[in-house]
Amino acid sequence: NTKGPRLPTYLKTSIPSGESFNKIKKDLRGLNLHTVCEEARCPNIGDCWGGKSSLDGRNTATATIMLMGDTCTRGCRFCSVKTSRSPPPLDPHEPEHTAEAISRWGLGYIVLTSVDRDDLVDGGARHFAETIRKIKQKAPQILVEALTGDFAGSLEHVSIVANSGLDVYAHNVETVEELTPFVRDRRATFRQSLEVLEHAKKQGVQVTKTSIMLGVGENADQVMATLQELRKVEVDVVTFGQYMRPTKRHMKVDRYEEPAEFDHWKEVAEALGFLYVASGPLVRSSYKAGEYYIENVLR
Ligand code: SF4
Ligand code: SF4
Repeated sequence: NTKGPRLPTYLKTSIPSGESFNKIKKDLRGLNLHTVCEEARCPNIGDCWGGKSSLDGRNTATATIMLMGDTCTRGCRFCSVKTSRSPPPLDPHEPEHTAEAISRWGLGYIVLTSVDRDDLVDGGARHFAETIRKIKQKAPQILVEALTGDFAGSLEHVSIVANSGLDVYAHNVETVEELTPFVRDRRATFRQSLEVLEHAKKQGVQVTKTSIMLGVGENADQVMATLQELRKVEVDVVTFGQYMRPTKRHMKVDRYEEPAEFDHWKEVAEALGFLYVASGPLVRSSYKAGEYYIENVLR
């Protein structure tokens, strides 16, 4: 079977709606801000942008922005972002423009992510950090999560981002150690990712976070071992989602996990001491991040 398993009905999604969602969507017009949520046609956009309009008076609306262009120097087998050895140079105005637009948008929580830029001397760490500092200057009430690459293992570059004033440092291990060479770009290793997360925590970041895709061929023992390794380096938050094949050129789905399986991993991870866990077939690492953070960290 070259197609892999059939898509289960619970992965078919509906068009988002709701008052809060519509407002966020309307406010976005004219800001010249491109969200991953829209560009990836993420099925969670209603849940994330809608958020709960107020939780203890806090705005939980969450969105994700991609920095440093749309072209990555790496090529992971699950990812649809385009690849080049030499992407266009950074836009030096991006930190200022992004911060300005975000400060005028009605969000409570922003996830900043980026392509990997192995072509830049600092992997883009300073650009990332500058964007975060500018957002915090213009809109200190907005919670900021940075979802970074591994900076090719440069802990100095991890430090630059970790010390920029962010609230959450996220870096995704994506899969279990055994499958890493088959799933992620060959320059990424599971151990290197653990080091990134450990180092961020040592810099005094309050919350560190990672994400695991299920359905790429991992087994339960491997997932369990992954969670234990993550706890050893004091990762606070983990999310689980189903791997979905972006195109036929990408790696096949091995298995569609049942929703009950995601509930199981949520329970297991909570029992291991993770601060909070988002887990479900459609969950992505930024899924309702504002709501989870406010419910579990600020309360
Ligand atoms: Fe946007 Fe992430 Fe939520 Fe999807 S899961 S809508 S990409 S914030
Ligand atoms: Fe995609 Fe990130 Fe891998 Fe680049 S490093 S190919 S953006 S998953």
